[in-house]
Amino acid sequence: MTSRGVAIDLPSYADVERAAARLEGVAHRTPVLTSHTADARTGAGLFFKCENLQRAGAFKFRGAYNAVRALVPEQRKRGVVTFSSGNHAQALALACRLQQTTATIVMPKDAPATKVQATMGYGGEIVFYDRYTEDREAIACDLATRRGLAIIPPFDHHDVIAGQGTAAKELLEEAGPLDVLVTPLGGGGLLSGSVLSARALAPHCEVWGVEPEAGDDARQSLQKGEIVTIPPPRSIADGAIVTHIGERPFAVLRRENVQTAVASDAELFAALRFFAERMKIVVEPTGCLGLAAVLNGSIPVQGKRVGIVLSGGNVDTASLAKFLA
Ligand SMILES: *Cc1c(COP(=O)(O)O)cnc(C)c1O
Repeated sequence: MTSRGVAIDLPSYADVERAAARLEGVAHRTPVLTSHTADARTGAGLFFKCENLQRAGAFKFRGAYNAVRALVPEQRKRGVVTFSSGNHAQALALACRLQQTTATIVMPKDAPATKVQATMGYGGEIVFYDRYTEDREAIACDLATRRGLAIIPPFDHHDVIAGQGTAAKELLEEAGPLDVLVTPLGGGGLLSGSVLSARALAPHCEVWGVEPEAGDDARQSLQKGEIVTIPPPRSIADGAIVTHIGERPFAVLRRENVQTAVASDAELFAALRFFAERMKIVVEPTGCLGLAAVLNGSIPVQGKRVGIVLSGGNVDTASLAKFLA
């Protein structure tokens, strides 16, 4: 049941397996890295799932590709629309190009040029709106009706969640049974998909989601037992600043007793620098949430085998230089 009392169809691990079959040979099976320094610092065995090296630079490609692939052929041919301007937009544009259809992306007029260019580079069609006077979801709905497009939102969607769960599935297959699994938490698509894989492949594994400290709406929602909406939070973790978690993710996280933690911007910068200096990898601030929460001590990991999903690597070089300075 949703907060409005309507029954919704929640994805299961069978849906994650179906998504994995669709993604075979299309998505990268990203590497799992380890670090003696990180292990020494935390007293744990850490396994980093590198979705910063995924196609289009983030795990979002998994859910987007799966959702487009799951459409009936006539619908797939007509195309899809979304209202997210972040990594989901680029992922959806690429997923559509690979499946010979079109992605229409509703983006604010003042979106960063790099994001606009990246989305157009993957063949996405952009419809601009004024974020101070217009409602992006209404615009997407209107385009969907007029052009016969399917709406594929960034996290509150059955096939998007199932696709996101394939990263944790691969991690558990490669690292073996884990005691703890940690992922970033924004709208909850990644975390809810991940917990489906964890329950199937490592039933005793604790599952944690990490939010930016400034926007702990999911923690509040799980505590209260209903979805809480907060004002737009300010954090460097731009991939996880949502005002509320999705209904489907919320239902899954609640049912599966998922725990949450938070990390501050300063802790995210420290983790980002650790990845660059020690592990020689570029992880965007949002992708650093998991390690930041393990290093700040809010997730107990001593003596445990811990999987951490590095969710993305999309950060422009000017910002990266500033973060590293
Ligand atoms: C979208 C995104 C997240 C958050 O994922 P949700 O499914 O919204 O919880 C985390 N990290 C990166 C890099 C993202 O792009």
